[in-house]
Amino acid sequence: MTIKRRLIVSPSEIKAVTLQCSRCSYSMSVGPQDALIIPEECPQGHRWTAYMGGGSGPEKRLAEALSHAIKVEAQATDRGFSLLLEFDAPNP
Ligand SMILES: [Zn+2]
Repeated sequence: MTIKRRLIVSPSEIKAVTLQCSRCSYSMSVGPQDALIIPEECPQGHRWTAYMGGGSGPEKRLAEALSHAIKVEAQATDRGFSLLLEFDAPNP
């Protein structure tokens, strides 16, 4: 028998959104309600492409959507459902 553990969180439980350079591992974090401004490159000069085809790329749109979901959830109105994010829990 296999037991799988899951972490289930609401957007309001997100403490930070982190961007990490895929080439040098430099990372920067912002609070989920802060404006996410993606620089054009990391401090080492590795190019970060946050915009594609004249619009925001998927990472930027996801960060904006999470920020909006957090603000909506903070208004504490009963919308009849909750948005929950589910992750595999790390092994103990
Ligand atoms: Zn880098």
